[in-house]
Amino acid sequence: MDPKQNASFDGHEDVVFVGGEAQGFAGVIAVHNTALGPAAGGCRIWDYDSADDALTDALRLSRGMTYKNAMADLPLGGGKAVIYRINTDRVEAFRSFGAAVEKLGGKYITAEDVGASVADMRAIAGATSHVAGIPKEHGQAGGDPSPMTALGTFVSIKALLGGSVQGRTIAVQGVGNVGFNLCKLLSGEGAKLVVADVNKVNLQRAEAFGVEIAPVDQIHAVSADLFSPCALGAGLNAKTIPELAAPIVCGAANNQLATEADGARLVERGITYAPDYVVNAGGIINVSAEYLGEASDVVEARVRAIAPRLLRVLETAKSENLTPHQAADRIVRDKLAAARKG
Ligand code: NAD
Repeated sequence: MDPKQNASFDGHEDVVFVGGEAQGFAGVIAVHNTALGPAAGGCRIWDYDSADDALTDALRLSRGMTYKNAMADLPLGGGKAVIYRINTDRVEAFRSFGAAVEKLGGKYITAEDVGASVADMRAIAGATSHVAGIPKEHGQAGGDPSPMTALGTFVSIKALLGGSVQGRTIAVQGVGNVGFNLCKLLSGEGAKLVVADVNKVNLQRAEAFGVEIAPVDQIHAVSADLFSPCALGAGLNAKTIPELAAPIVCGAANNQLATEADGARLVERGITYAPDYVVNAGGIINVSAEYLGEASDVVEARVRAIAPRLLRVLETAKSENLTPHQAADRIVRDKLAAARKG
């Protein structure tokens, strides 16, 4: 399996297959770009159909982290790890994974992603210091990044709705770690919430905010001021876009557009789309501050800066006649080119 032959390779600087029978796990670490700093991105644990599928996901996610980190003005490049098999005690497996991260000498920094927990990060920390997402002492940045991802999404939504969510209806797809925290912030400022989730336990937890519940296959079509995808990727596609009822889409889910053409479909329908990686950078901003040993109070200001940045991206899209996603990508490519020259 030569990563260079993969259609998602996109000039990755380094791709390493890690683990094996003896180590009790199998995974891939992908380092896309280190022009702006060490490659940072979480470790996803997922049951892929094949090692090739795991590689493709690692490559796509890793490239996405380059764009997200650069857009957020972080001193970090983009990377990602996926673990697609664990065949020993979980703590042992993560410690072995940590040893693989250590071998890269700081080129890659890991943290939580889908399927990974703080306990897993603690196990990794037994073998390397190139890990974040671990709660720190009071006043130090660290821990679960989801509340900061939710805050960045919240301030973005507020900015798109003209500065207030009071009395506005927001449809939230997925009330997991980020969606739940987002609902808390929105309901705290008087928004009306309609939510959907495939997980009954998570849905019940959100009921504390007086939410209305919509069917999972209808949440995107709910009549609302804004639709917020906070579940899985590819939710904006040829089927759902014609059915969207809200004039604005702004959520935390990664890779919301199924294809490039879906960005254009949204523009054709007159729907404002807030590019996912601009909006959902709060978590990596928290991870970055933790890794660099910064105080927690610098994080919130950086996360709140996501809202004006998003408005600038949307302005750029309008003035350059690009879709919002294309405008964001163009801005990042310029930043990377400037970093390479400098
Ligand atoms: P999570 O797994 O805690 O929550 C996702 C929720 O979506 C779950 O409750 C799940 O049941 C639900 N869901 C899955 N499929 C659904 C469907 N078809 N319809 C409705 N609900 C569905 O994950 P999370 O950490 O909250 O992340 C949510 C999204 O935000 C993901 O796309 C993730 O990649 C992205 N993201 C998360 C962070 C972070 O800090 N956690 C940072 C950046 C981006």
